[in-house]
Amino acid sequence: MKSTKQNFILIGLTILFFNVFQTTFPQERTEVHIPDIPGFYTLKADLHMHTVFSDGSVWPTVRVEEAWRDGLDIIAITDHLEYQPHKDDLPTNHNRSYELALPLAKSMGIILIKGAEITRNMPPGHFNAIFLDNIDLLDTETWEEAFLAASEQNAFIFWNHPGWLQTDEIPIWYDEHSEIFKKGWMNGIEIANEFSYYPLAYRWAIDSNLTILGNSDIHPPVYHYYNFENKEHRAITLVFAKQKTKNSVREALFNRQTAVYYKNRIVGNEKFLEPLFLESVKIISQKPVFQDNNKINIRIHNYSDINYSLLADTSFKNFNFPEKLNLPAHKTIFLKIKSNKELTPGRNCIELPYFVSNLEIGPGDPLPINLVFDAYSMRGIRILPDNKIADLYKIHSPINSEFDLYYTLDCSDPNQLSLNSSEAFECKEPINLKIAAYIGDEQIGEIMEKDFSPHLAIGKSLELKNDFSSSYSGGGKTAIIDGVTASIDYKDGKWQAYRFDDLEAVIDLGKVQNVKSVSINFLENNYSWIFLPEEVKIYVSKSGKKFEEVFSKSFTADPNSRESRIAKVSAKFKEADARYIKVVAKNIGNCPEWHTGAGKKAWLFVDEIIVE
Ligand SMILES: [Zn+2]
Ligand SMILES: [Zn+2]
Repeated sequence: MKSTKQNFILIGLTILFFNVFQTTFPQERTEVHIPDIPGFYTLKADLHMHTVFSDGSVWPTVRVEEAWRDGLDIIAITDHLEYQPHKDDLPTNHNRSYELALPLAKSMGIILIKGAEITRNMPPGHFNAIFLDNIDLLDTETWEEAFLAASEQNAFIFWNHPGWLQTDEIPIWYDEHSEIFKKGWMNGIEIANEFSYYPLAYRWAIDSNLTILGNSDIHPPVYHYYNFENKEHRAITLVFAKQKTKNSVREALFNRQTAVYYKNRIVGNEKFLEPLFLESVKIISQKPVFQDNNKINIRIHNYSDINYSLLADTSFKNFNFPEKLNLPAHKTIFLKIKSNKELTPGRNCIELPYFVSNLEIGPGDPLPINLVFDAYSMRGIRILPDNKIADLYKIHSPINSEFDLYYTLDCSDPNQLSLNSSEAFECKEPINLKIAAYIGDEQIGEIMEKDFSPHLAIGKSLELKNDFSSSYSGGGKTAIIDGVTASIDYKDGKWQAYRFDDLEAVIDLGKVQNVKSVSINFLENNYSWIFLPEEVKIYVSKSGKKFEEVFSKSFTADPNSRESRIAKVSAKFKEADARYIKVVAKNIGNCPEWHTGAGKKAWLFVDEIIVE
């Protein structure tokens, strides 16, 4: 007796210890980061699993704990009706697994749906019926009676693992399936089950308006089955539900508001997958600004667990952007984009068309999406003379630019207390201007530095005979008379370039003026196929009809010239009265014979034509 009493105490202590043990080591839940979409919660469901009440090897409450730890919101325990291998150890009681799991599911916030697996030979194979009231009524002689009993309880019924038993797991649709479908007994179909995926079943689902499901069909403990360290996860049905309730889940399932998360891909209707992608992936760069060379860097963050693989729609030529773009889960990437056309000064809405390979809106059909964002161009900022007072200049903001400009002339960094672009400044000598753009109190982009040289042609009209390159426009037609001179770097966005063609420019000063000199900067960079002109001629005219040549100079391309350098051509003359200035710079045409590009089209780079 004594010893028995001691044993009782020992058992009591053990139970106590177990309870303490459980409460001191809380379980950890790993959320599945697949975001909600506008109007719907994205609930994670596994609607197919087994316990010891059929051929599974775990107790029903374990399924609840596993689901909670795996970040699931909804499960259905669906033990086999006809296959009861443990019946000698546990009595067949079809409703029992649900009853045992329910209290824990409630306390852990898991929606538990009562279900069972109708387990018949193929055809028709296995079907799950969920949202049942009394599972016992499905334990019938024929499969037709089982389906009828499920249907009478308004169950949601779906075909499990349709490729089961078939060659290469390619499912076959038998007459029995047509019969089940016609009777309204097939509401959905598993297109993913355990480690299998059935594209043909997905096709059927689209054609026959069936709800798509992806489930684990797990029999052993989840943690013995999946390699979580390798990021393996069970197949999950994503349920887009208005509320986190059983009724809302039921409504969503009957309305085909599901997608399937299987390995690193999600398959489903475009109307769910597109918002899912847009909620997962955000452009986090705030008011990005194009640099002078029309390039921009954008930061994109992926908030989801999915590693998205994107392929560009290559028919789109407005921008250069990566053809292949991988957006790893929970990472930020840097995307480099170059505009192939001149940007609108101020705000530009940029759309980059891509296909997301692992979001499938049909078997093998990637989801088309647009990466859309606003980006700003400062290209339209001009320094122009005040027409009334000599030597006064003003900074002009691009039309509809949405930003305010502040500037300094003393090399300090401008802020909102600096001179505003509405205030003019006096300038007789070359100066260095620093300009900052603001939207409200927020500075956008970098501070811009401009080497400004005042001269007579700034802001005047200009005619060009030939088209300049769209890649090297210098910012537009009048870039060669804007007072801002280009640097030694041919990619600085300030050079205007001509390929094979000549520069032929006529500047109209507006009225006859006293002109003392005209100078022009050309770039030489043989390595980059940029050569000095063969010949430069400058003409002046009062009428614009008869031109008088006032300057001429020739160059010969030098094979030994390696460095990039600027050649300044200056024509000084005894004060000439002129209204029109014509500059003709002859492109050498093709690269010289000694050059690596021999016989191919050569570049001519110009900036700036300075009239004094
Ligand atoms: Zn089965
Ligand atoms: Zn099963």
